[in-house]
Amino acid sequence: MASRPKTSEALKVVARCRPMNRKEEAAGYERILEMDVKLGQVTLRNPKAAPGELAKTFTFDAVYDASSKQADLYDETVRPLIDSVLQGFNGTIFAYGQTGTGKTYTMQGAWTDSEKRGIVPNSFEHVFTHISRSQNQQYLVRASYLEIYQEEIRDLLAKDQTKKLELKENPETGVYIKDLSSFVTKNVKEIEHVMNLGNQTRSVASTNMNEYSSRSHAIFVITVECSETGLDGEDHIRVGKLNLVDLAGSERQSKMGGPGERPKEASKINLSLSALGNVISALVDGKSTHIPYRDSKLTRLLQDSLGGNAKTIMVATLGPASHSYEESLSTLRFANRAK
Ligand code: ADP
Ligand code: MG
Repeated sequence: MASRPKTSEALKVVARCRPMNRKEEAAGYERILEMDVKLGQVTLRNPKAAPGELAKTFTFDAVYDASSKQADLYDETVRPLIDSVLQGFNGTIFAYGQTGTGKTYTMQGAWTDSEKRGIVPNSFEHVFTHISRSQNQQYLVRASYLEIYQEEIRDLLAKDQTKKLELKENPETGVYIKDLSSFVTKNVKEIEHVMNLGNQTRSVASTNMNEYSSRSHAIFVITVECSETGLDGEDHIRVGKLNLVDLAGSERQSKMGGPGERPKEASKINLSLSALGNVISALVDGKSTHIPYRDSKLTRLLQDSLGGNAKTIMVATLGPASHSYEESLSTLRFANRAK
């Protein structure tokens, strides 16, 4: 793997902490998490610390505190990755963290409030602005939206929501999902429409089953194909793929799963998450000859967009209050493994 770009270029890990919410304030929970934006550090204090126990400090590529703006995160951390997708590289952006810490806020945010628009709408804008300014290139943008729930893949844009999709492998083009729908989108409005359709399907599913959205991984895939006539008079095509991933909540699930679930199903819930952690740490390690992509649907699916020439961003989302100490520590450790 000698040709791999430096870790800092290929993989960025940032942490983001949401503000205290009203419930936490009303309950009088202490703040146990501090961020030093200049140093890129998060310090977490154990609310039940033994005397003399020190707070734990973690360093990341950047940290975003409760006062950070969506645009700060986008401009500093995300923009370069989208630029490289427009150049024909693959990229993946993950939000990882406990349910309620801001994964969906970070990825999607509030669409109607320009200040609160998250990574997804900002990257739509970015891609189509770039395209509208380009002169000698022709672009084709396609979008798909899928979900992995208990290691089963569902097409969020398909009419038939009961159908489970299969991962296939093509010796030339690699891993793909058989029969996954894909829509050509010509502008921001069209791609937003595709995203909204999928989001509606997700919200129907979560009304039918509690905890559904916190236990499934949602992956929005944008493929940007660019063709350009070279100096040699030939057409050259480059294709970049962007995966925008709102992961399942990282909180530990009870061993028995929810009511009506067999323990075997419960054990599948976080399989993709732990496999993702293993793949990323094997990539970061750089010495591993074997990257365990095959261990889960999520990592197989993202195989061509994690490692190699692809760029990856992980946003670890955190809550500030004492009641989430254990989960915050586990998120920080997971993110720390990825550095
Ligand atoms: P998750 O997707 O991780 O379960 P959400 O994104 O749904 O969490 O966030 C939970 C709540 O906290 C939402 O009401 C959301 O608007 C709010 N929130 C999360 N992050 C922020 C933030 N950085 N600033 C303001 N509000 C936030
Ligand atoms: Mg969410």
